[in-house]
Amino acid sequence: MKLLWNTGSRFKCPFCNYSSRGHALMGSNSAVLAEKEVIGGQRRRARCLKCGSTDRERLMFAYLGNERDFLTKGHDKKILHIAPESNLNSKFRSASLPGYVCGDKFTFGYNYPEYVKHIDILDLSFPENHFDLIICNHVLEHIPDDNLAIKELFRVLKPEGEAILQVPISANTKYTVEDHTIMSDEKRKELFGQEDHMRIYGQDYTDRLSHVGFKVTRVNISKKYNLYGLNQQEDIFIATKGSKTPNP
Ligand SMILES: [Zn+2]
Repeated sequence: MKLLWNTGSRFKCPFCNYSSRGHALMGSNSAVLAEKEVIGGQRRRARCLKCGSTDRERLMFAYLGNERDFLTKGHDKKILHIAPESNLNSKFRSASLPGYVCGDKFTFGYNYPEYVKHIDILDLSFPENHFDLIICNHVLEHIPDDNLAIKELFRVLKPEGEAILQVPISANTKYTVEDHTIMSDEKRKELFGQEDHMRIYGQDYTDRLSHVGFKVTRVNISKKYNLYGLNQQEDIFIATKGSKTPNP
């Protein structure tokens, strides 16, 4: 009934092809996220009513499937997908890609299926210069030592590869807000907007990536793919080792 009522022509979900007038509510209504204008974290209408895809997952589809050919069937590129979102994960798996690996550190708590491997981003069991593509979509904000994680991602990326490293980011704050002395869930929720977030990234987020050696290209394709119902403010952060700079 909800699907019928919501059918329209304003948006079209690239995962399930549902054409809609709008999306379901998602995200946190925490005060600090609003105050800091955190892109990709605030309460908003962004979830597909049919398949449950989120705006940031559809943004990945737009980039990986339309601007790049990573969702094309049968290619042999090596892909690492950290904390795989279900719809994007299904797309990769149905494309029959022998080089696709997905995993999460918390394989028990999240009801992941068996093919999601136990992978610790702080200690990756892959050789250096291994992956053509790494997807890490809203993961780094959960990790206390994000510098170590970024270093590991840098290590396993091929010289000509690219890592898509999305985080919620404050539009109006220059410097990342974090405090490692905070131990309580309540305090983290108050300061960072979610009890399992370690910080709110500021506009210096790209410096954290370039600090370990990444070259960062920050692009906005959300307007181009407005039909997918994307967050118009959400940029894509493409990190490379510098030998090839993507230019979507
Ligand atoms: Zn959908």
